[in-house]
Amino acid sequence: MTATAGPTATVFNYTLERRESRAPAPPSLRRIVIVGGGTAGWMTAMMLANSLSSRGVEIEVVESPVVGIIGVGEGSTPWLRGFFDSLGIEESEWMPACNATYKCGITFDGWSTRPGFESYFHPFASMLDNLTLTQFVHNCQARVNGEDVEAHPNRFFIASYLARKRLAPKPARSFPFDIWYGYHFDAVLVGEFLHRKAVERGVKYRACHLTGAKLNERGDIACVTTKDGEEIKADFFVDCTGFAGMLIQKTLGTPYVSYSDNLFNDSAVAMPTPMGDSIPCQTISKAMKHGWAWEIPLTNRFGNGYVYSSAFCSAHEAERELREMLGLLDSDVPARHLKMKIGRVTKHWNRNCLAVGLSQGFIEPLEATALLFIQRTAQAFLECVEAGDLSERVQDQFNAKVNEHFEGTRDYIVTHYKTNSRTDTEYWRANNANPNISDALKELYATWMSGKSIAPDVGRQRIGKGYPIFSSRPTTWTRSATCWSEAP
Ligand SMILES: Cc1cc2nc3c(=O)[nH]c(=O)nc-3n(C[C@H](O)[C@H](O)[C@H](O)COP(=O)(O)OP(=O)(O)OC[C@H]3O[C@@H](n4cnc5c(N)ncnc54)[C@H](O)[C@@H]3O)c2cc1C
Repeated sequence: MTATAGPTATVFNYTLERRESRAPAPPSLRRIVIVGGGTAGWMTAMMLANSLSSRGVEIEVVESPVVGIIGVGEGSTPWLRGFFDSLGIEESEWMPACNATYKCGITFDGWSTRPGFESYFHPFASMLDNLTLTQFVHNCQARVNGEDVEAHPNRFFIASYLARKRLAPKPARSFPFDIWYGYHFDAVLVGEFLHRKAVERGVKYRACHLTGAKLNERGDIACVTTKDGEEIKADFFVDCTGFAGMLIQKTLGTPYVSYSDNLFNDSAVAMPTPMGDSIPCQTISKAMKHGWAWEIPLTNRFGNGYVYSSAFCSAHEAERELREMLGLLDSDVPARHLKMKIGRVTKHWNRNCLAVGLSQGFIEPLEATALLFIQRTAQAFLECVEAGDLSERVQDQFNAKVNEHFEGTRDYIVTHYKTNSRTDTEYWRANNANPNISDALKELYATWMSGKSIAPDVGRQRIGKGYPIFSSRPTTWTRSATCWSEAP
């Protein structure tokens, strides 16, 4: 399966085409055990089964009955559409089963203090936007250089209109343009849905808690072990054990690179609220005192949560601020508190182990990119399998590619914290003043400060990795903002 741009695609319109191979799978891959049955485990199981089951590869998912899944992660990018399309699963089947809704983009509320820009929409752009998005990019640059032209993103994209009107991005009749959109869904129901589908497609399943793994004489994983002492053998293991990173980190000792110097948020608190009469088709990301809060519409409820930095506020303070915002101060709706480990392993594919999902790393969920990492990692691995080359050289290339994706996305998220204009709390001031940014981002700063276009750098995917130029247009940025002038 590979990502290709169709002849009529916008910069952002890509579809995932399956390139079938009937060649036998490499002998070192006759049996694969996936440890973990969260979204990462089941998405990976479906993708591997789709490509490898008919080629004689046995796939088994082993999941602990005592360790639950993280159970959050309810927003996607448009790429998730390609995931279901490539598996031949219709929206009419999976969306109702997962209480899913359409997502046209994200409204950022309160991130900017500039008059007129206090709220803006980050759209998923479509073919219909081809003309206006060029104008938008042009106007942003003109505004940077002092011209008084319209550059608010809400005025230029069809998705902004749909979100404002609460309309689904699905034309009623046959329509000659592709509309690009993502989804919101119940993470637990998605896991259950994919579990059912995977088992129907021949994936084996075992509920058992693993206590460790044994290495062979070469240092590869020979088997994983259960608490009853049973050994589960395989040629290849996929670590989908979430933040525990049981195989990739604990067993193989793969080094971990923390992004905590770049991104301060390390905690979250979540609670649901009832859905109203009409269902919105956008995520809302609202800036808070010590982070930001998400509001995600499902068919039966809103998912809400506050992502914050524990260095700036306690779990109790965060819960109180969220409850206050939601009007739940006196309510007994339970809150779920979560810790987040932000960073990545250095090798996502190490020896005979591939890490997918939270075990390989995580960047805070501001742009809902985590499922895309799962998809891209499994897909890139399958491309190596299709090419029949699992050598160390290929592993190195694979790891470099995934790391680049992580670094690019990290920088894209960091940009949100460096370019907003909030200075009302220590949290926002510390983010603005944070000198820990990558060289690529520093270069982008320099280009921006000089008044030149950042389009070529973004086009070369120096930041974002998958985000097009209009996503990086800094209409809310100001060249005189302290964050820029204080940057090293
Ligand atoms: C606050 C927050 C918000 C998020 N929002 C988004 C979002 O909007 N969009 C998005 O794309 N992503 C989001 N994510 C990320 C998303 O939730 C995860 O990427 C996704 O759910 C995949 O998780 P996972 O399957 O890797 O891990 P988990 O869901 O933690 O699953 C781990 C699995 O491993 C198993 N396991 C663990 N230990 C053992 C053991 N010893 N033996 C056997 N099995 C074991 C568990 O039983 C479980 O099945 C968010 C994450 C957080 C923390």
